[in-house]
Amino acid sequence: MALKNQYLADLLETVKKRNPGEPEFIQAVTEVFMSLEPVAEKRPDLVEAGVFERIVEPERQIIFRVPWVDDNGVCRVNRGFRIQFNSAIGPYKGGIRLHPSVYLGIIKFLGFEQIFKNSLTTLPMGGGKGGSDFDPKGKSDGEVMRFCQSFMTELCKHIGPDTDVPAGDIGTGAREIGYMFGQYKRIRNEFTGVLTGKGLTFGGSLARTQATGYGLCYFANEMLKANGKSFEGQTVVISGSGNVAIYATEKATELGAKVVAMSDSNGYIYDENGIDLAVVKQLKEVERKRIKEYLNFHPEAKYTEGCKGIWTIPCDIALPCATQNEVDGESAKTLAANGCYALCEGANMPSTPEAIDVYFENNMLYGPAKAANAGGVAVSGLEMSQNSERLSWTFEDVDNRLKGIMKEIFKSCDEASKEYGMEGNYMAGANIAGFLKVAEAMKAQGCV
Ligand code: NDP
Repeated sequence: MALKNQYLADLLETVKKRNPGEPEFIQAVTEVFMSLEPVAEKRPDLVEAGVFERIVEPERQIIFRVPWVDDNGVCRVNRGFRIQFNSAIGPYKGGIRLHPSVYLGIIKFLGFEQIFKNSLTTLPMGGGKGGSDFDPKGKSDGEVMRFCQSFMTELCKHIGPDTDVPAGDIGTGAREIGYMFGQYKRIRNEFTGVLTGKGLTFGGSLARTQATGYGLCYFANEMLKANGKSFEGQTVVISGSGNVAIYATEKATELGAKVVAMSDSNGYIYDENGIDLAVVKQLKEVERKRIKEYLNFHPEAKYTEGCKGIWTIPCDIALPCATQNEVDGESAKTLAANGCYALCEGANMPSTPEAIDVYFENNMLYGPAKAANAGGVAVSGLEMSQNSERLSWTFEDVDNRLKGIMKEIFKSCDEASKEYGMEGNYMAGANIAGFLKVAEAMKAQGCV
């Protein structure tokens, strides 16, 4: 697929030159530009205001050393990142990813996507993202704590409740957020809502843990309903077994579906009777074990090494909830050939451009990450509101607001896709609706 709009095509070339060796970032920008072609045609005022040029250049990129001492007393060093991408509609907001694959290009693609996602939530949040190539897997609690304290010692100079509010992502869960919050409070002598995803005893929001997975199913449900379908009686495959995957499994099951497969970075399990989520929660949330051990509880289930094969399992609905580019063109073809008619993204950018082409060629319903997984950051926004008010809302209250927000997000994607002549293309709808709000704010604020 090539861009037809010359202005955007030239700008994409500049982005490529400016960001060499960052294929994930280029992939994210290309996808957004493909959707924005009709906007560039229809809104010359935004072109003139330099909005497209400015939106692809982060406002600030911070890279720092993270030294920490391991259990053997040895000094180890990782690299820390924070990208403050766009603050046109609110303080920067986006998670912290701790994974050995993290480098500038990954954080930049995630920060870029976050601009549009946060805009879609209807809450006042700008786009940002952070992380480190530190791998929490196999580290002791003490090592993770010392890493998090060192990471925050530098990061705290750049964030604040009205400036930049990080949250969790891959490898950053309640434990890591707790250590980071403790260190921020200690250094700044401030108890503020500077991080979201906090523990419930120190300012966290009920339903934040469930928010991304539940929100994904609320969005998918809206998309299915609009096309005369529902989760009831459907077979679902979900990749990953982390925060997003676990709560997507919980909600999809509650909505009447049968989830038959889950995975981790080593392999996947297939349980034709439906996944026993209590076992997965115990293994992953409590014991930090591998998904393979599911077989100790359900020997009738099957385990396969390697992740990609999970997409060969026949299903009606697929929910990729692990990582970027986990569904390629070949996997997408297999899904379609086996009768999968809907795919909704819990992970960020889990589909390659070739996979997305296959979804459209096969008329599959496709819920893009920016819209479908925005529930996590939406509830983070609600956590910020509760922290400012110094109040805690009930689970039902937060969950109902989340449901309302996901419904609105689907509506905006649907309406924008219709307005710009691409009905049913929710990817274009999400990119356009998310972009326009930020673009109007950037234009109004002048060349900054
Ligand atoms: P977790 O760390 O809780 O879980 C990640 C899961 O994905 C684990 O099962 C992990 O397996 C697997 N995984 C990670 N990397 C790879 C890889 N390279 N190949 C195969 N599997 C992999 O993270 P989350 O559940 O929080 O995040 C999952 C996805 O959802 C990410 O793309 C994230 O950006 C996105 N997301 C998360 C939000 C949130 O609120 N948490 C909000 C919006 C999006 P293993 O344990 O073996 O590493």
